[in-house]
Amino acid sequence: MNSSKHRDPIILRVAIPTPLRRLFDYLPPEEPEAAVSRPGEATATSTYPVGARIRVSFGRRQVIGVIVEHAANSSVPANKLKSAMQLLDRESVFPKSLFSSLLWAASYYQHPVGEVLATALPALLRQGEPLLDSVEFWSATTSIPDATEQLKRAPRQAALLSLIKSEGSITINDLRRKGFDYSLLKQLLARGLVESRQETLDEQFTTSADTTSSHTVSLNRNQEQALAAIGAGDAFDCLLLDGVTGSGKTEVYMRAMEKTLAAGKQCLLLVPEIGLTPQAVARFTERFSCPIVLLHSGLGNRERLLAWREARQGRAGIVIGTRSAVFTPMARPGLIVVDEEHDSSFKQQDGFRYSARDFAIKRAQQEQLPIILGSATPSLESLNNALEARYKHIKLPDRAGTAEPASMQIIGIEKESLDHGFSEAMLMKMEKHLAAGNQVLVFINRRGYAPVLQCQNCAWVAECENCIAQFTVHSRPAGLRCHHCGSSRGLPRQCPQCHSSRLETLGLGTQKLELFLERKFPGTPVLRIDRDSMRAKSSFDDMIRSVESGEPCILVGTQMLAKGHHFTDVTLVAVLDADLGLFSADFRGQEHMAQTIVQVAGRAGRGEKPGEVAIQSRHGSHPTLQNLVCLSYGDFAAQLLQERKQGQMPPFSHLALIQVESNESATAAKFAEQILTQALGIMGREAGLSSDIQLLGPMPAPMEKRAGRYRWHLLLKSHKRGALQGFVAQLSQAVEGMRLPRATRWNLDIDPLELI
Ligand code: ADP
Ligand code: ZN
Ligand code: ZN
Repeated sequence: MNSSKHRDPIILRVAIPTPLRRLFDYLPPEEPEAAVSRPGEATATSTYPVGARIRVSFGRRQVIGVIVEHAANSSVPANKLKSAMQLLDRESVFPKSLFSSLLWAASYYQHPVGEVLATALPALLRQGEPLLDSVEFWSATTSIPDATEQLKRAPRQAALLSLIKSEGSITINDLRRKGFDYSLLKQLLARGLVESRQETLDEQFTTSADTTSSHTVSLNRNQEQALAAIGAGDAFDCLLLDGVTGSGKTEVYMRAMEKTLAAGKQCLLLVPEIGLTPQAVARFTERFSCPIVLLHSGLGNRERLLAWREARQGRAGIVIGTRSAVFTPMARPGLIVVDEEHDSSFKQQDGFRYSARDFAIKRAQQEQLPIILGSATPSLESLNNALEARYKHIKLPDRAGTAEPASMQIIGIEKESLDHGFSEAMLMKMEKHLAAGNQVLVFINRRGYAPVLQCQNCAWVAECENCIAQFTVHSRPAGLRCHHCGSSRGLPRQCPQCHSSRLETLGLGTQKLELFLERKFPGTPVLRIDRDSMRAKSSFDDMIRSVESGEPCILVGTQMLAKGHHFTDVTLVAVLDADLGLFSADFRGQEHMAQTIVQVAGRAGRGEKPGEVAIQSRHGSHPTLQNLVCLSYGDFAAQLLQERKQGQMPPFSHLALIQVESNESATAAKFAEQILTQALGIMGREAGLSSDIQLLGPMPAPMEKRAGRYRWHLLLKSHKRGALQGFVAQLSQAVEGMRLPRATRWNLDIDPLELI
């Protein structure tokens, strides 16, 4: 073969989405197209840019990988080295600094780099769709004179068409923002009423007049301080904005965004999975007239790619998204905001187990951006970073505007007999608030009807056979459901063990509470908000509307209630059971309990009326609970930090969790044991390590069986991040070389959030 004289001999080192922690070597593609590069200074490096996608054969498959490096030679023998098949991009898919952050993540999380890069790409790009520097703009076709007749029975289509006509041309993202979806557009397309054209998006959103509308409030002193602390926007700076619910954090984000947009730069706002409510989005669309794209799990692949492109090309001024939106490329990044930074949905719990918050911080460092972490209940990690002055720390201790903080009290229920989980005192409070024309929010951390179905004759309990866990009873639709693996079945009429029909539900879920409260407070609407009721989006929106009407009502719900919603007429928050978190086996149990209670409490009295929070507990005098009520969250968290320090737990030490799962417990245990042997071997070879690294286990996971798989844990702990990282890198290489028993897998979780 006579290679082109322009090209150096070159090996492309390619990341491929496979579980192997390495790159794969290929020769450049043979097809002529690849040689058609910029005339003149065609070097191999510019023809095959790092970060570009490339199609290669891999085993018997064809896969799409990403070029990560160039090398002069390969350890693969020349006669085994294959040529890549086709170069897909002429430029890196990722901006340079984002690409290096992604490589950092692969090494930090010890995750196969091919899978990391695949996670960061929209699905269609993983499948080979062109990167395209253009976006579809839709406009009305000119040839059709009048569509009125055609659309007489399709008012939504007619409304969409008239919007398109009035705007001239519009992107899908713009349409979505105005409440229309892709399917509606396709219907217009099928009628021949609209057409699209591809346009490049090198134009950026226009600044000043186009980006902001007038503000309505003037910032208070703390907010001004926060805004000043964010800096000029061209250097890394991390600000922990530690402000109680309603203290005006969002207002600060928006002012910081205004500054960023005015400088012609883009903003990325990350929100928790359930924080991306229409209410929350509306605040931004009302405030800013620049294009805003939303990235969340509800998007179709096509819509996701379009939104991603608008961000990458710099057309979108603001990108709002959940966890994986942290990987969205931006042409002119200027600011990152992580709202509710403590929220556990920022941590991916399977596959590539990354923390979007931590990655956002790394990214801000790489891209030299300011980043704001906002929360009313910061994570102990972030608080500690602030206390140790790695982050700036601004507190907003008071609610903005006129709203007063809610008062908190504990209702001890040690000796009480409860009516469906309610003490007499709690019911009286509810009655009082409702009679005063206000709304009441009842919080319980369990959805479904009841957590247990039990036979009253032989004490049999309905359990999921895929998990070591009880089935939850659901009433609408009726059946048993496992909240861990999602399996479900009909309600049994008889006990499968003794055939008695005396089956009873024990405990309380949101559905049972809803029914009880409807009977107890006839005439007062009861609205249930949990993952099940959220599923039907339209009914959820109706619900929010009726809450917003301000009429007395009772809201019953889970954690979902604690996020993002702004209920101005709720004056009482009733927490039915604070005890679960108090005695949790997980070392973060108390932190999470406190965060949840403070967040839910933040829903009370957000309007003009003062709010009250009542917490029921069987351990009313428990010091942790007392502290939570008497202290601010900050002081409470400072105490928890002391305990963590004494126990040498994160953030005062670092954890890595190795999990082995198999279809048999013994197989998982044995493989975990072999990993331990490897670990001890490495420690034996490197004397310094054994004093820095602590090995715990192997032990069965607290929930040993889940979704039909048995799981064993090996926990690694160290004071020294660097030592742990180095050790885990060696260990994972070693484990990768081990023979994996049938139906067995292992994975690694750096900085695990939950040890379940
Ligand atoms: P958070 O995000 O901390 O919950 P928000 O930014 O949503 O708080 O503010 C809560 C309410 O207070 C909003 O209605 C907001 O418009 C209002 N607000 C925020 N800052 C001020 C201010 N400086 N003066 C008056 N009202 C404010
Ligand atoms: Zn029975
Ligand atoms: Zn299950």
